Amino acid sequence: ASAKRGYDADAPQLEGWKHIYSGKVRDLYEPIDGSGFSHPADVVLVVASDRISAYDYVLSSTIPDKGRVLTQLSLWWFEQLNVPNHVVGSTADDGVPAEVVGRAMICRRLEMYPVECIARGYLTGSGLVEYREHGTVCEIPLPGGLVDGSRLPEAIFTPSAKAEIGEHDENITYEDVTGMVGDDAAARLRDLTLEVYREAERIARERGIILADTKVEFGVDPVTGDITLGDEVLTPDSSRFWDAATWEPGKAQPSFDKQFVRDWLTSSASGWDRHSGEEPPALPADVVERTRERYVEAYERLTGRNFDS
Ligand code: ATP
Ligand code: MG
Repeated sequence: ASAKRGYDADAPQLEGWKHIYSGKVRDLYEPIDGSGFSHPADVVLVVASDRISAYDYVLSSTIPDKGRVLTQLSLWWFEQLNVPNHVVGSTADDGVPAEVVGRAMICRRLEMYPVECIARGYLTGSGLVEYREHGTVCEIPLPGGLVDGSRLPEAIFTPSAKAEIGEHDENITYEDVTGMVGDDAAARLRDLTLEVYREAERIARERGIILADTKVEFGVDPVTGDITLGDEVLTPDSSRFWDAATWEPGKAQPSFDKQFVRDWLTSSASGWDRHSGEEPPALPADVVERTRERYVEAYERLTGRNFDS
């Protein structure tokens, strides 16, 4: 993933930084040499936008403040976790451009692994689909009798391979990961992923939130050679958060953040057929506002802080 992608229409131009990449949600920049900025060449500026994706589409509507929520929540989690991470700084004093302060981090530039490192403590989503068919998730055998939303006996590492934009990520086995990155790195990715999940699951549970599963991404810091936690962590975009008070195995749990978006897109009101191959329509204002409220609520419940806007 080194080429620019199609979602950079709203990537801001930032003095001293050159835009190098846009994913579905984030825009990446590298420092421009000789611009008078003191950043070493081995950092990147990771800017979270207000873009939102659903059903593998980036929607034409944005969610106000979403980029700030994702960034502030990630920064909070990076501080809670005992796993080495990529953050160098996030303030104007650290060199973040004024236009994006609050939704950007200066980070160690990592060589990212092409593996989405997923840990699951509960059964749902693509895991449930495989379990119903084979009794396994990523070929890990699980006990019988589990239903949608069941808690697993212990958290499992269920990696997936990064898909091209618009494609669905594909679950792979641990064996596949060893084939991609080697035995040592695979073991380290698995252990670190499960460590992140276990720490975060405990912290979230204290706040009445179930962390059903989460996806993290790691890379190698080329300077130190260390496997380092990158990207965003433990946000509503990368994780399934459920309200512990209403958790009830045996049915689909409402997703904390995108439920209003998904419900509206699949309702007759939207006039959209998700299998039509057509772009989804713009979201109505009330769906945008309620979704914004859910992102802010996730931030406030997890961190115990006010999200002042
Ligand atoms: P993809 O991950 O395939 O690009 P995406 O839509 O998930 O798709 P975003 O999350 O919007 O992408 O963009 C973030 C991108 O930045 C990801 O490709 C991620 O792997 C990469 N990234 C995150 N942290 C770093 C880092 N420290 N150094 C280099 N790349 C990073
Ligand atoms: Mg991503």
